[in-house]
Formats: sequence, structure tokens, C-alpha cells
Amino acid sequence: YKSKLYGKEFITIDPKYTTQRCHQCGTIMGHNGYRKLKLADREWVCPMCQTHHIRDWNAAINIIEKAQGIWSNPIIKKKKVA
Ligand SMILES: [Zn+2]
Repeated sequence: YKSKLYGKEFITIDPKYTTQRCHQCGTIMGHNGYRKLKLADREWVCPMCQTHHIRDWNAAINIIEKAQGIWSNPIIKKKKVA
């Protein structure tokens, strides 16, 4: 009823990986040998792109992106063909 009150759209998402995913590069912690984040990890640095994250802020961005359907797979380094 709150979203209706403010003329907004209410969307639910599957929360899977919203905490563990780096919103910058798509790396998911707990995968590919990266240690899974614990609840006590309030801030962390992505081992792939070195982005510093505040846990809840990163998760919030992931939730928005998931709702918008713009999650992309982790960036895989490809060899450039000259
Ligand atoms: Zn990253």
C-alpha cells in the first residue's frame, strides 16, 4: 500500500546472492575459490576488481539491479585479438 500511496511499483526478487555479489564486476563471493562473506563482514573488498564495499549498500544496489533485470555475469577476462 505504501508504493501505491507514492505512485511507485512494488517488486519482489529472489534475494539469492544479493549480499555476496560485487555490484561492480559481478563476482560472487563463495564461488571460484573466494571466501564467502560472513554476517560480521560489514565492509569488504572485492578480490576481483578491488572495489571497497559497505555490505548493505552493495546489497541494496544488487537488489535494484536484480529488480531491473540488469544483472550481468562476472566479467571474464578475454584475450584481445589484435
Ligand atoms: Zn568486484
